[in-house]
Formats: sequence, structure tokens, C-alpha cells
Amino acid sequence: MLKAAKFGGSSVAGAEQFKKVKAIVEADPSRRIVVSSAAGKRSGDDHKLTDLLYLCHAHLTYGVSCDEIMETIVRRFVEIKETLGLRYDVEADLAAFRARMNKDMPVDELVSRGEYFTSRLLAEYLGYTFVDAASCVFFRLDGQIDQERTYEAISAALKANGRILIPGFYGRLPSGRLRVMSRGGSDISGALAAAAVDADVYENWTDVSGILMADPRIVDNPAPISHITYAELRELAFMGASVLHEDSIQPVKEKGIALNIRNTNRPGDPGTMIVESIESDESPDRFITGIAGRKNFSIITVQKRNLNANHSLGQALGVLGRYKTPVEHITLGLDSFALVVSTGTLGENIYDAIADIKEECRPDGVDVQDGIALVAAVGRKMTSRPGISGRLFKALGDAGVNIRTIAQGADELSIIVGVENDKFETAIRVLYDGFAG
Ligand code: ASP
Repeated sequence: MLKAAKFGGSSVAGAEQFKKVKAIVEADPSRRIVVSSAAGKRSGDDHKLTDLLYLCHAHLTYGVSCDEIMETIVRRFVEIKETLGLRYDVEADLAAFRARMNKDMPVDELVSRGEYFTSRLLAEYLGYTFVDAASCVFFRLDGQIDQERTYEAISAALKANGRILIPGFYGRLPSGRLRVMSRGGSDISGALAAAAVDADVYENWTDVSGILMADPRIVDNPAPISHITYAELRELAFMGASVLHEDSIQPVKEKGIALNIRNTNRPGDPGTMIVESIESDESPDRFITGIAGRKNFSIITVQKRNLNANHSLGQALGVLGRYKTPVEHITLGLDSFALVVSTGTLGENIYDAIADIKEECRPDGVDVQDGIALVAAVGRKMTSRPGISGRLFKALGDAGVNIRTIAQGADELSIIVGVENDKFETAIRVLYDGFAG
């Protein structure tokens, strides 16, 4: 058994969190490859080191001193070192880094140091060999990860050292310069590490006990999801559930590696297991895996007699494409169709887009309705059950929620309804109480 364990920013935020990480790593000798984020927030009003480093860069760009921010950063690292009695001379390395910091230092190099210094300290504390991401995570010229080279380097490093720790979030370009991934990118580094060594599990340690069935700001104490497929997770994430960096799924999915989201502060909780397919059914009565949604969509309804005899739909889609506005979903009738788009994405272009649609489609009428929220009930088990959508719509109707649009994914993995923005929370609660809890 071999496990890759990635610890997020809150898991390595300070010395107390380092102790929890050590206990987790030591509890299971198969956790032989560890990836670390930069120290994150210790409390609500604290700062992530990565944010502070981006702030340093902004100061340098405008010629404003970043001494004060650097002092805060140095204090964070020195506190961890001293509390845990580590030997690594982080002060000297930080001083050398500070001396090189000027407005010409590439921003990627600058912000990558959060992961670098956090990982140097954590590697010593765990007794793991530190393997710099600059020597094992490679980007191609086009900025994409060079998977082959990366996998080779990581698996060679593990073979040579037995137990390794790699800083997340950054890697090296062919030119030798460092490059960071997008925010939250340590999730990707962890996935690459797991895939490189063909781990049995990719554990993603964070500060929640897995993915919840609904947003806890809307539903009281939503149940955690114990098992979910990669496809379901994608639907939920697309509809607004923020869980993992979306690019972290592919490397592990490709290799059939299960992804387990765990809570560093409650290591006894099993968390959520994300897998390719689920055969056994632990909760046969629950046919919805999760509920998510987003507000602020517009429905553009175009009336035109005998749609099947003309090309209006294609023309309208072409217009929205020109304004770089993706269409979230489409409903189609005999004499009209409706396109749902994000209000913010279309923005002020709405007026030009409607004028273009009128000109190109020559419709009998066009109507725009703003203030629409989309709510998705996602569940692999909906495929095999008749009557589910009927029950969902009845529950919403009974609660006084007017449904403006309905869409079901072609794979029957989700049912999406459009409701008015001010009914968003009610719709989520009704679906959760009726079908998920
Ligand atoms: N430290 C980086 C960030 O804050 C990457 C990560 O934590 O995953 O985005």
C-alpha cells in the first residue's frame, strides 16, 4: 500500500498544525509521499503566506517598501522552527531571499517561496527527504505540465529516498525559471505525485471532513458525502460547490487512483472518497448525492414559429459565441427556445446581443428575464429511478418555488432547475430536506 498525502494551507498554518500532520503521517507508514502547501490562515483574521507574498510583489512593483510584510512572513517561519526545535537555518535562507527581492524578481519565483520554506521545515520535522519541486515538477514551453518527465522524476526521487516531501504549487519551465500554478494549485501537485508513483490513494488533507451534500451556509448541518464518483463531483463543482482545484482530478482519475478528502483537525473522520464508479450502495434510500447551485443567470427567450424549419437556434448560439458567452442550457419548444446565460458574463453586451439576434433570427419576439438561479440535484442513482423529477418538481411547487427552466443532463446525472434568485436558498433546502437528508 502506498499513499500520497497532500496537506493544504490550513493544515500547515503553524506549529500546532505541524504536530497534527506528523501524527497523521506517523499513524500510517504507507504515507510515504507528502506534498505541502504554504502556511495558510491560523484563524479567521490571519493571512495566507501566499497572499502576503503576492502583496510583497505588488509593493515592489510600485516601489513601496515591503519590509513590514516580510517581517510578518519571517516571524511565521521562525515561530514554527523555534516551537518545534528544528535546525534548518530558515533565517539565513530568508535573509538571502530578501536580499535578492527587487522589482525584477519574477512574481512566480517570489510567491513560490511560501511552499518552499514551509516544506523545508515540514520535511525536517517529519524526517522526510525534501525534494524541491524545481527538480521534479516540469512544465512544457506552452505552460502545461510535462507529465512524463514529472512522473519519472518524482518516482525516481521516491525510489532513491524512501520517504519524500515535495512543495506544492510550483515547478520549473524548460528555461529553468520557476512557474506557479493557479491558486490552490498544490492540489494539482499532490495529484501528480500520487499518479507518478501509482499510489493506491491520493489523500487530500484539509480543514473539512469531506464534501458536504449542500452548502452549510444554506442548509443546517448537511450530511457529508461518503462516496462520490468523479463524474458527479464534476457536476457539483461546475454548479458551484468548491472542493478541489479542478485540474487535480485528471491525473488521478486517469490512473484509477481514489481520492480521499480528509480533515487534519479530525483525522478519525473517514472523509469523502472520490472514485471512478461505485458498485455497492451504502445508502439505498438516498438517490441524490449532492445539491449545488449558482445565482444570477438570465433567460433569453426567442419566439419564432416553426423552429424546426429554420436555423434560428444556431444563429442565436452564434451571436452569443461572438460575445464570448457560454450557454448554460437550452430549452426548446415548437415555436420558441430559451437560452440560459450568466448575467455577469454577458454583461453590457446584452443590448448588442439582443439586437444581433433580432437582426439575424428575425424572431416573432425576444424576451429577457434576469435574476435567475440554477439549482442542481446531482446523483448517479437518478438514472435508474423513474419518477424522480416529478417528485422534485412537486416538492418545489408545494414550497411555492416557481420553476422557470428545467434541464436534465444527457447522462441523467443531474437535474437542473432555474428559479428566481430570491428562491435560491428555499429551493436548496427543499431539495435537501426532501431527498438528501
Ligand atoms: N499556496 C497556494 C495558494 O494559496 C497554493 C495552494 O495552497 O494550493 O493558492
